[in-house]
Amino acid sequence: MSVTIPPGGSAIGSALLALGDRWTLLILQRAFVLHTRRFSDWRAQLGVSDSTLAARLRDLVAAELLVRAPYDDNGRTREEYLLTPRALELYSLFLVIWGWEQASMPGAKDAPHLIHDKCGQSILPHLGCGVCGTAPVTARETTAERAEHAEFAKISVPRLHRRAQETGTPTDAISYFPQTMGILGDRWSTAILAASFIGIRRFNAFKSELGIAPSILSDRLRRFVGVGVLHAPNDAGEYRLTAKGMGFFPTFALIVDWAQRWYAAAPSRELTIRHTACGAPLHPVLFCSLCGELLERTTVHFEFSPTTTQRV
Ligand SMILES: [Zn+2]
Ligand SMILES: [Zn+2]
Repeated sequence: MSVTIPPGGSAIGSALLALGDRWTLLILQRAFVLHTRRFSDWRAQLGVSDSTLAARLRDLVAAELLVRAPYDDNGRTREEYLLTPRALELYSLFLVIWGWEQASMPGAKDAPHLIHDKCGQSILPHLGCGVCGTAPVTARETTAERAEHAEFAKISVPRLHRRAQETGTPTDAISYFPQTMGILGDRWSTAILAASFIGIRRFNAFKSELGIAPSILSDRLRRFVGVGVLHAPNDAGEYRLTAKGMGFFPTFALIVDWAQRWYAAAPSRELTIRHTACGAPLHPVLFCSLCGELLERTTVHFEFSPTTTQRV
């Protein structure tokens, strides 16, 4: 049951399909934070079943996010999985998801610190405009323009992919909170979140935009209202993002940018997020909240408190 990207399909839809799954996010997160690259290590860290892990690794290879590489294990050749260049860029996505948790659920015990090696401080990643250098840039300081006929959210594979019913995703300090996984960890939820950022508000508009079954849509909207990402519908029947929901803008902006660079069949944008202040299409980059320097994958690391139950 691998996820195949239909030729000529939506780049953003393809990216949402590739990423919108809780196990996929956890597998990639472990690869970034703990440098996990072997089947047995993911299994031990995540407590995931062999069949689920094998299926997700296959999907990640098919989506060109992981690549198999042989290694020598005491004279026996085995395979491990390395992040591809396309996947390495997602480091910034994992930083902003972590940043959203810090902002939305402060006081999370044992949360790891993000250390910026250049200034040596415990920092937050600020999404900024790579053209004019302004940071932070929030949703309110941008506009989103959709190309005609762009149907990014009409993701065409959901029937092949049941919502993950597995419970028991790990809850150690480096795992995302269950609430985060409930928002980003399934394909419909990420698509609904993306649709909210381009101004979709009403039940029927979500339904036709996403091609989603009404019962699934009701369930997801209820959940989003429950966790405080969307306001309960107003008198006009509109579901609007709350401040907490708006906090996902960096996640949305990075996925849109990444998708259109790596999954687009043609050099045309389905969606252009524009930085209002400078007028340029937003090239999202991350800046250090304290020293203001550009953050790069190689100049940040997570530091765990001594009490952290980190299973390495
Ligand atoms: Zn700008
Ligand atoms: Zn810094």
